[in-house]
Amino acid sequence: MADRTMLIAMAHPDDESFGMAGTIARYVAEGAAVHLICATNGDVGTVDEAFMEGYATVADRRLAELQCAADALGFASVTTLGYRDSGMRGSPDNEHPDSLVSAPVDEVAGRIVQVIRETRPEVLITFDPFGGYGHPDHIAMHEAAVRAYRLSGDPDAYPQQINNGLKPHQPGRLYYQTFPHFFFKAAVAIMRLLGRDPSKFGRNNDIDLTEIADNTYPIHVRINYRPYKKVAARARDCHASQLNPDPPFLQRLVQNLFSRPVDTFMQAEPPVENGRVRHTDLFHGG
Ligand SMILES: [Zn+2]
Repeated sequence: MADRTMLIAMAHPDDESFGMAGTIARYVAEGAAVHLICATNGDVGTVDEAFMEGYATVADRRLAELQCAADALGFASVTTLGYRDSGMRGSPDNEHPDSLVSAPVDEVAGRIVQVIRETRPEVLITFDPFGGYGHPDHIAMHEAAVRAYRLSGDPDAYPQQINNGLKPHQPGRLYYQTFPHFFFKAAVAIMRLLGRDPSKFGRNNDIDLTEIADNTYPIHVRINYRPYKKVAARARDCHASQLNPDPPFLQRLVQNLFSRPVDTFMQAEPPVENGRVRHTDLFHGG
């Protein structure tokens, strides 16, 4: 039994690898038990035909990619909740009855509470309130995970789980994965300098960098994962269907801004009194 346990609550097969693979690799290498919840099957991700050979659906392909990343990173467990990917904001997929955003937050929170009570983590990590870049599934998962954090220690919450033998458990800390303001502000400035629209970024022009730059959160923990860069890259490469093999110049430029091997987190609970706190360990004492 590992003496340090962490649970990461994400929305899509690839969220674990595109934002914090290095952090996961570091903690697994240090002997921590790192568990993952992935709420959707990534059903509406854009996948080129070439990646679909041998797979009946996009979800099948993306869950296989998640398994590949899980093998590379060494999760202690991966729980998929099986919701349908809700797609980007405003897309018709938002309205699908099986989509994550259509599910009542209490229901999603209850499923997260179940995993918290089973794995008993000291640390719970999810998205920031803006879901990193405004993806509706990320925001839905943020809301459900925050509720789960608040309720998992309450024996009167989801009592059926208690009747089934699970014990209440509240993680000691809740973190939000977050991004340094500087990089987004720099990216917006660079795009404007080049005469490009920073509100239409990314593979599908559906990422608004100006909005991201305005929705930033304090950073309390910085995890340097330089020794684990290779493992992190291996996990990211598993999600081949979601990688652009030949990104346009501008995207490469912005990606290079993020090439420092550092992941950043905001400590949401317990609240940080002094905003200047700087830790280098998610399990930090005190
Ligand atoms: Zn995602």
